[in-house]
Amino acid sequence: MHQVQRLARQNASKSGRRLRQASLQLGSWQASRGYASGSEPYDLVVIGGGPGGYVAAIKAAQMGLKTACIEKRGALGGTCLNVGCIPSKAMLNNSHLYHQAQHDFKRRGIDVDNVSLNLPTMLQAKDNAVTGLTKGIEFLFKQNKVDYIKGSGSFVSSTKIAVDLLDGGKTEVDAKNIVIATGSEVSPFPGGAIQIDEEQIVSSTGALSLQKVPEKMVVIGGGIIGLEMGSVWSRLGAEVTVVEFLDSIGGVGIDAEVSKQFQRILAKQGIKFKLGTKVTSAEKQDGKVFLKAESAKGGKEETLDADVVLVSVGRRPYTEGLNLEAIGVEVDNRGRIVIDDQFTTSIKNIKCIGDVTFGPMLAHKAEEEGIAAVEFIKHGHGHVNYGAIPSVVYTHPEVSWVGQTEQDLKAAGVQYNIGKFQFSANSRAKTNMDADGFVKFLAEKETDKILGVHIIGPNAGEMIAEAVLAIEYGASTEDIARTTHAHPTLSEAFKEAAMATHSKPIHM
Ligand SMILES: Cc1cc2nc3c(=O)[nH]c(=O)nc-3n(C[C@H](O)[C@H](O)[C@H](O)COP(=O)(O)OP(=O)(O)OC[C@H]3O[C@@H](n4cnc5c(N)ncnc54)[C@H](O)[C@@H]3O)c2cc1C
Repeated sequence: MHQVQRLARQNASKSGRRLRQASLQLGSWQASRGYASGSEPYDLVVIGGGPGGYVAAIKAAQMGLKTACIEKRGALGGTCLNVGCIPSKAMLNNSHLYHQAQHDFKRRGIDVDNVSLNLPTMLQAKDNAVTGLTKGIEFLFKQNKVDYIKGSGSFVSSTKIAVDLLDGGKTEVDAKNIVIATGSEVSPFPGGAIQIDEEQIVSSTGALSLQKVPEKMVVIGGGIIGLEMGSVWSRLGAEVTVVEFLDSIGGVGIDAEVSKQFQRILAKQGIKFKLGTKVTSAEKQDGKVFLKAESAKGGKEETLDADVVLVSVGRRPYTEGLNLEAIGVEVDNRGRIVIDDQFTTSIKNIKCIGDVTFGPMLAHKAEEEGIAAVEFIKHGHGHVNYGAIPSVVYTHPEVSWVGQTEQDLKAAGVQYNIGKFQFSANSRAKTNMDADGFVKFLAEKETDKILGVHIIGPNAGEMIAEAVLAIEYGASTEDIARTTHAHPTLSEAFKEAAMATHSKPIHM
């Protein structure tokens, strides 16, 4: 810690007052956390306080490791809590209620007059959700005695990290083990042809905070984030067109049959789709954005106009400022930090988890890796089952899946049985007047072992948990079919789809 004071002294001549305050703050910070010159290095320092990093830090502290987490955002929770999963779900939930009040309540015998949107309040509710949850993690850090270092971390050596503190000043922390969990950032438009300004041409971050409902919105990219944000603004009144390079929506891992049904349902809700179409440029003029687009196969050019364009073409690993080169951590040609099957980078005492390395960019995947990486550090073993990581699209209806798709199985030449059950034959879905979609099981022909489950329908995001558990335990569709499911619940559709795979369902 003496280096903090030395650096503070060096800089004091430049801006005395600000740094005196900073070193005072540091002084109390050090005191409150037992930091002192010459103190023992941390057992573990985690760089990045997103779902991967904060979970790893808490787990490590629970296991008795002296742990710190460095986060530069000024709030814990990473992309997920601040500009990802949580704010998008707040907007999805509340825009759905608004849409229901406008278009669905009447047929349920609920007459409400003058339903109107108060967008500032809806945005405030989203912000409140974010603040509440990020503060909650800070509380968990205190409770578990994780030191929260607010600043930007950069490698000095494989056991020393320099931190530019948010309050001003610098410090260095020593660590026996380090976990890199610096996450991802929005991918720019390929070739730089479209620049994001977060007002008219927005990324998902800007799309979470539009101050006005656009009349026309074009979403470039029909993956999960594009469809979720497109749904939000469509429900709030925008005319939304999704332009997608591929011939299908939903991104990587979605079952082709589900994707088709999904598109049909969203189209019925008013979202327009231009598939197999490539946006090539954007020009801002008179408060509008004019996009040039052409068929993905070439030829047939057209111009689309929009008030707001959402560029949603993916995310890329984020390692800026980490100074990985200084210590020789290997990164692949897509910017992902290279790890082995124990999450270890090319440097023995440095592990890496979450969006910044391989695998699906999902919060729960990052969390599982955080726990497993810490278990490797503490016990020498840990495990993540990458064959049982669920994906969910939180539109209405929701779409979820785990395991393999039908197209995967065909490509691999696997013999399989399919079982499907429509929500329109499920008593609860019918009673709720919310019966679009189906549950689909894929099971190995010879053994009946479940290989994949795909759901489009109400509460698909919750229901998929049962499929994940089944796959974790190597269950067969008969195991599910012989398990009692409460009546009347949507989960009976799950059971009946399992019955349909190896035998026959009752209600269809
Ligand atoms: C709009 C949107 C919606 C999403 N919805 C979902 C969803 O519903 N479900 C889901 O599972 N996933 C969702 N995701 C993806 C999810 O947010 C990410 O997969 C998840 O946040 C990855 O966690 P992580 O810990 O790897 O990284 P991140 O959450 O990105 O956290 C990394 C943190 O590291 C910090 N950091 C970076 N460099 C440094 C440094 N040098 N020093 C200190 N700190 C640093 C960053 O500030 C950041 O806070 C969504 C993403 C977006 C954008």
